[in-house]
Amino acid sequence: MSQALTPREKLSVARVQLQKRFPFYGFLALKLNVIEKAEVGTAGVDGKGNMYFAPDFIADKDTDELIFLWAHEIGHLIFEHVILKGSRDHMLWNMAGDYAINLIAEQDGVGKFIKGGLLEKKYTDWTAAAIYDDLLKEEEENKKKYKQAQDDGGTDNHDMWGELTEAEKGRVSREWQQAAVSAAHAAKAAGGAVPEAFRGLIEDFTVPKVCWKDLVREKVRAQNKEEISWSRINRRRQLGNFNYPGRKPGEKVSFMVALDVSGSYTQEMVTSAVSEVYAACSEFTEVDIDVIMWDTRVYGHKTFTQDNAEEMRDYKIEGGGGTDFNCVLNWMRENQKQPAQLFVFTDLYFSFMEDPFICDTTFIVNGNKNITPPFGDSVDYV
Ligand SMILES: [Zn+2]
Repeated sequence: MSQALTPREKLSVARVQLQKRFPFYGFLALKLNVIEKAEVGTAGVDGKGNMYFAPDFIADKDTDELIFLWAHEIGHLIFEHVILKGSRDHMLWNMAGDYAINLIAEQDGVGKFIKGGLLEKKYTDWTAAAIYDDLLKEEEENKKKYKQAQDDGGTDNHDMWGELTEAEKGRVSREWQQAAVSAAHAAKAAGGAVPEAFRGLIEDFTVPKVCWKDLVREKVRAQNKEEISWSRINRRRQLGNFNYPGRKPGEKVSFMVALDVSGSYTQEMVTSAVSEVYAACSEFTEVDIDVIMWDTRVYGHKTFTQDNAEEMRDYKIEGGGGTDFNCVLNWMRENQKQPAQLFVFTDLYFSFMEDPFICDTTFIVNGNKNITPPFGDSVDYV
């Protein structure tokens, strides 16, 4: 009987089954507008609410495989693979996203794994960004593996992820976060469960967000208020072995911006980041702002003062690959940098050393929703 169905009808049948058996995914799948497009080769989403399919790819799949496909696409949207690529390598990011999602759907028994896709038990509970860093270690070999998987049919096509502006990415993120929260409620009401892998994420979505720009301004402004900055420094100082003299009124203030260029921040985001710090600092008559890039080492160091601070906005990023936050701390020690505030723009995919405290620090985090730094404050970039 299924032979009589068109590929579009087959996708609809699978979506109805998804709703019955896995309502969390099912409610989210209803948000997608289904478009036939042979050029995509397989299937895929674009972040703007569209799901594309190539009829030939769908024609030889059974309902369980199509249930898996729906869950796969929903996963990419909720885990924000669609918007978090940044400057990462296209092919490896594609792989990382598929490894992350396929394992979740497969382990939860959502439909049937589609042969030709990527599956690796080792990546249980890993995020795509962490998987990406792991894949980077054997880049060439992994790329060969990906090409082989594509030749075997693959799972889907991620090429439609690319064309979103920063503003659109923010909108897509908010929209799917809201949708996930609603789907979680709806699924529970329908007697279904929220898949384990999504639970932490959804809890996080429901916590009210502080805007990173506000936090940067507040942190900078606090340096003008002796009392607040003293209490903060005293609190933090207990964590490390450093002694910080208090700033006298009118004394020069120094800040530092450390840009993690290992992948998740694009030039556009970095420009926005340094512009924000520049704007926040403009109320100081005397200021030093050290800006560095880092991945596994520190480079591109520039110091800006009140006289040339506007040039910060032209700061260009380069490099990328690997992440080792220790290089920033070591660099600060070697160069005797003790800023009033260190702003670290990062995806937070690294391990902290034992006693990492060096100064009052704010982490502006793009992507990683699962790790809280052992010191300082953190805020999401979006
Ligand atoms: Zn995929």
